[in-house]
Amino acid sequence: MINQPSGITIKSPRELDLMRQAGKILADTKKIVKASILPGVTSLELDALAEEMIRKAGAIPSFKGYQPSPSMSPFPATICFSFNEEIVHGIPSNRKIKDGDIVSLDFGAIVEGFHGDTAFTFGVGKISTVAEELMLATKTALEEGIKQAIVGARLSDISHAIQVSSDKSGFSIVREYVGHGIGSSLHEEPQVPNYGQPGKGPLLREGMVLAIEPMLNVGTWKTKIAEDGWTIVTEDGELSAHFEHTVAITENGPEVFT
Ligand code: MG
Repeated sequence: MINQPSGITIKSPRELDLMRQAGKILADTKKIVKASILPGVTSLELDALAEEMIRKAGAIPSFKGYQPSPSMSPFPATICFSFNEEIVHGIPSNRKIKDGDIVSLDFGAIVEGFHGDTAFTFGVGKISTVAEELMLATKTALEEGIKQAIVGARLSDISHAIQVSSDKSGFSIVREYVGHGIGSSLHEEPQVPNYGQPGKGPLLREGMVLAIEPMLNVGTWKTKIAEDGWTIVTEDGELSAHFEHTVAITENGPEVFT
C-alpha cells in the first residue's frame, strides 16, 4: 500500500485481490439476501442471514461494532437497513417488511484486513411509480459515476457524472453523506461527493479503490438524524434510495468488485 500526497492509497496486487474476494462475498450475499426480502420478514432476520453468509465465506462483517466517533455507540449489526424515508444507517429490528416498502441494505465485508462495501435499494411487491423511478435514477447515477473511475480522470469527474445523471431525473442528491476511499479501513481518503464541477481533485491512478454511493431523494436533499442516533432520514419524510459499489481503477477501466 503506497500513500499518495493526496492521502489516497494505491493498493498492491495482493491487496486488490483481497478486496476482490471481499467484493465477491458481498455480491454472493446480496443475491441470497435479496431473494429473501419478502413481506413479513424482519430486517433482523435478513441481518442474521447476511452475517451468517459473510462469516461462512471466511470474512468479517465490516459494520458490526463500527464506531465512527467516541460519542457514538458502536453499530450493532451487519447490515445498515433503511426503510422508505430512511436514507442510510438504519438499525435492523423486528420491524416487518411490507408490500410497497422500498428498503435499502448497505453492508461490508473484511478479508484479511481489507474491506468491500456495497448497497442497494429494493422494492417489495407493488411499489409506487415514483419509488420505481427513484431507484432506477439512483442506480443509473451510480453507473454513470463508475464510468468515470478511470486512469487519468479527476476525482470530481465521478461526482459530476453522478450529478448530471441525477439532475436529469429531477430527484435531489443527498449532500451530507458521500462515497469514500476504501482499503484497510472502511472509510479512507478521499471523500467522493455525489455532486460538483468536473476536472477537480486528485488524479485517479491505477490501484486506487473507491466506494461510490449516490443517495437520491424524492423531495428535499436535506436530512436529519433519527432518535436512535444512527438512522439518517429525509427531512421531509419522502422516499430515498441508495446504491453503492466498491470500484478499483485499473488500466483496463473500472473494475466493480461488488
Ligand atoms: Mg460506503
